[in-house]
Amino acid sequence: LEEGLPLLATPEALAPLLPPRPLTAHKGSVGRVGILGGYRGEGLRYAGAPVLAALGAYRMGAGLVHLVAPEGPLEPLEAVFHPVPSPTLPPLKVEALAVGMGGGPWGKAWALAALEARRPVVLDADALHLEVALAYREAGLPAVLTPHAGEAARLLGTGPEEVAQDPLGAARALAERTGLVVVLKGNPTVVAEGGRLSLNPTGHPALATGGTGDVLSGAIAALLAAGLPPFEAARLGVFLHGLAGDLLGEEKGVGLLAREVAEALPRARRLLE
Ligand code: AMP
Ligand code: MG
Repeated sequence: LEEGLPLLATPEALAPLLPPRPLTAHKGSVGRVGILGGYRGEGLRYAGAPVLAALGAYRMGAGLVHLVAPEGPLEPLEAVFHPVPSPTLPPLKVEALAVGMGGGPWGKAWALAALEARRPVVLDADALHLEVALAYREAGLPAVLTPHAGEAARLLGTGPEEVAQDPLGAARALAERTGLVVVLKGNPTVVAEGGRLSLNPTGHPALATGGTGDVLSGAIAALLAAGLPPFEAARLGVFLHGLAGDLLGEEKGVGLLAREVAEALPRARRLLE
């Protein structure tokens, strides 16, 4: 009974967590987010993933997004762009970070550089390594890990099939091993912290396309930057991201672009308000 049944993420439970937007809000008061990621190597570049995370953060309500990456976005973006030739942390005034999207071989270096900011963080994609997670734990920094089944399997030293067979068990095991909040993505997505487990009811198979996970990382970082504790930021971000997928899946069917999921986040949020 101690470990209990998983919580179901319901609109009634999550609506009160929505960060308020007072009439006097300004872009410095509602949460500033740093995005660290991307990779530029010989013959291979990951430029889109951190941009999608920046869009996810803005569409979840961030006041200002700083994008730290080797490559600029192809089109002008609302974010402040900090070009860096290798994974480093420039001075940033932010309340939270999302790290690792499109990091490729630079993933671990991005995560270790971001540690110096001493801010709540979302660790995603190529930043997902056990030693990185334990370093954040050691530093006492709130962190949310957002692996899909393959990344969770790598962290746990098992196979993706085992993770897919028992996502609740895998999420709990990873949360216990790292002492951090774990978002195990897929259908269903499970959020775990210590013995607490939350099952997410939203989400659509149309989300199974490149970049949607990057949008989620930025969205959760925006909620951390607005002041939500990591378990709550993860549950609310996952719910709204899945709801955006449901809205688009119903309207357009399969063939979504991840940037459209970001664009649908405000509508999902309004449904919860
Ligand atoms: P990533 O694998 O990092 O790109 O993340 C993919 C995102 O899409 C995660 O938020 C998943 O939960 C979501 N997703 C992928 N496939 C499905 C599915 N079949 N049903 C619901 N959500 C999905
Ligand atoms: Mg991903």
